[in-house]
Amino acid sequence: MTTTATGSVWSDLVGQAGTIETLQQAATGHGMTHAWLFTGPPGSGRSNVALAFAAALQCERGGCGECSACRSVLAGSHPDVHVTRSETSTLYIKEIRGLVQRAALSPAHGRWQVMLIEDADRLGDPDHARGIGNALLKAIEEPTPKTVWLLCAPTVRDVLPTIRSRCRTLTLATPGAADVATFLVRSEGISETVANFAARASQGHIGRARALALNEETRARRREVVSMPARLTSLGSCMTAATNLSELAKEETDAITAEANAAEVAELQTIFGSERKDTTSRAYRAAISDLEKLQKQKAKRRVLDVIDRALMDLVSVYRDAIALAVGAPGQLVNEELRSDVAVLVRAASPETLLRMIDAIFLAREQMLEFNVPPQLALESMMVALRLSGEGR
Ligand SMILES: [Zn+2]
Repeated sequence: MTTTATGSVWSDLVGQAGTIETLQQAATGHGMTHAWLFTGPPGSGRSNVALAFAAALQCERGGCGECSACRSVLAGSHPDVHVTRSETSTLYIKEIRGLVQRAALSPAHGRWQVMLIEDADRLGDPDHARGIGNALLKAIEEPTPKTVWLLCAPTVRDVLPTIRSRCRTLTLATPGAADVATFLVRSEGISETVANFAARASQGHIGRARALALNEETRARRREVVSMPARLTSLGSCMTAATNLSELAKEETDAITAEANAAEVAELQTIFGSERKDTTSRAYRAAISDLEKLQKQKAKRRVLDVIDRALMDLVSVYRDAIALAVGAPGQLVNEELRSDVAVLVRAASPETLLRMIDAIFLAREQMLEFNVPPQLALESMMVALRLSGEGR
């Protein structure tokens, strides 16, 4: 997250006015509590909101965005704000244990000691040591007067019930397209046309909106996905589309993975280096081997995430077609594909379009819940999306 010239720590948070008001009041002592849970869909910016709150708590002026407390929190270098995210670390359990120990201490310099856990949904993973949830629970239940826990997760249900019941929950909204577009224009200095497109196409996912706005390859991959539906007129074209979709997903995953893996290895080297251990030591080799295993799992998971997003892009085309068929007012998500969307409207009735959306969700469930290989699930899905020309 970057701060802008417009000032406060809240100014980069998109479409979260209600939540910000609550947090601003809490930072000035009204309704403050020791454990908070921030939930919201991917891309709604829940960890950015938590970090802004951490800055506001350390700031003498409730989050001015300009003082050294605000700046160091946002830059990740404040000594009394401890951030843990599982995505960038193999040492998650160790980190949480460290947090729990630290939580018992008083803040070193700041007004509060803030413990931010970005992936609180992972605390319940069976592959994590069982004791970890309990240790954390005890720390949250019996907080030292100046310690605050900030947990982030997609939904309340993703967090262990014993932990979430101790937290005050704030649910972030999915930001509207207009808010996202305004933010992109201001923060990235791009044209309104590109910003409007990216905001609509991302459907409220800010990270995705930024990638679509700034990266031509990301735009090209999305364009390829959303132009598939109108071309599914024969069995052969359905099979080709399934293959293309898996390949696009692999391409995008490879691009994300290479960067993330290199960063993780560098991080591990730093950790071993700072503990003055030899990086040829057995401990280091074991850690690298663990990391590589984890990276493989994550790469597999990431392919599914990327396919999942592609499927949601496909759904947006069918939703557009239904909107056009029933004459709903307003812009389409895929406004620039209006002629393609019209092809769908001519080829399929609204009922059929709804069934096609169901077929997409079925493929999603098969892959995510039942581990059906993506290629297989995508092939049957594309066949279900074949246009027979029964519409108007
Ligand atoms: Zn400040």
